[in-house]
Amino acid sequence: MTIEVGINGYGTIGKRVADAVRAQPDMEVVGVAKTRPNFEAEQAVANDFPLYAAVPERVGQFDEAGIELAGEVEELVQDSEIVVDTTPSGIGAENKAMYQEYDTPALYQGGEDADLVDVSFNARSNFAEAEGAGHTRVVSCNTTGLSRLIAALEDEYGVEKVRATLVRRGGDPAQSSRGPINDTLPDPVTIPSHHGPDVNTIFPDLDIDTLGMKVPATLTHTHSVNVELTDETDTETVRELLEGESRLFVIPDHMGIDGSGKLKEFALDSGRPRGDVWENAIWGESITVEGGDELYLFQAIHQESDVVPENVDAIRAVLGTADRRESIERTNEALGMGLGR
Ligand code: NAD
Repeated sequence: MTIEVGINGYGTIGKRVADAVRAQPDMEVVGVAKTRPNFEAEQAVANDFPLYAAVPERVGQFDEAGIELAGEVEELVQDSEIVVDTTPSGIGAENKAMYQEYDTPALYQGGEDADLVDVSFNARSNFAEAEGAGHTRVVSCNTTGLSRLIAALEDEYGVEKVRATLVRRGGDPAQSSRGPINDTLPDPVTIPSHHGPDVNTIFPDLDIDTLGMKVPATLTHTHSVNVELTDETDTETVRELLEGESRLFVIPDHMGIDGSGKLKEFALDSGRPRGDVWENAIWGESITVEGGDELYLFQAIHQESDVVPENVDAIRAVLGTADRRESIERTNEALGMGLGR
């Protein structure tokens, strides 16, 4: 029995989730919903995804553009076993009543508030908590990146305190409306940034402070992380631990990947779809343990794709069709995870 998945919103995250779901042997895409007949709508049809109009009043616009529709979004929600809402921030909240009306469990993205949902989700950290949830939020790209790292360290050593500075990309490559242009912003200028409290939706008792900045870059976010560990260890042991995590890619020193540009180039050369980097990319040389319990490292987070495998796992977690280990392995294998391994 395959899981029938509907995807509402077919932009940066939605189109990637659609491809990732289609790649899973235990899932199928019922269809995708879009508001406008733009190039992504054309691509959805070209890729044989049944296309549904997200706004019924705009059906005529699709007809005029010569783009064939399979129906309207409510039909998609009705026909799906689960819906992944990948609409812009705040629209997921507006869509919640529709999912409730058809009794279709829904996954939302990090742009929605934590209090919209029953559970905030990260596969490595709290997979089992999502089972049976009606409304689940796959946390943001930055929170996903921090949670994966913290989960591995917490399990092995315990964590006393996390301090992280997030140097955030100003916008995605296609987001022509975003700045800043030639500027560097403390963003938010107040401390802590919202990321720390968001990580607390996954690790409620964790002591974490985050600071945010925005820079005129589009390729990835970059985190400077300091973790105070409970148990003592050393640099080599932590490095081996992180290398053993399937969604952490510890960049080997010899690769000469000195920043986000070369990281993306490497992903493209490796044949990754859209040059996606689903894993946290941690610079191996940056992993440093000082005084036995202070860990420092730099990691790059590919904002457009790190939440994609998490959405796939959240589908199995909510429907209870696999446990954490099984689901992560299946997702990884179907996507072709494992840069440089
Ligand atoms: P996006 O703007 O690239 O895509 C959103 C899509 O939804 C577009 O195709 C848009 O036309 C469509 N849409 C707009 N209103 C709609 C409606 N009422 N019904 C159905 N579709 C509608 O946005 P995105 O970057 O994919 O972000 C989606 C969500 O994922 C947000 O919550 C965001 O915070 C989160 N997220 C984004 C990133 C990122 O870096 N891009 C990373 C992690 C999480």
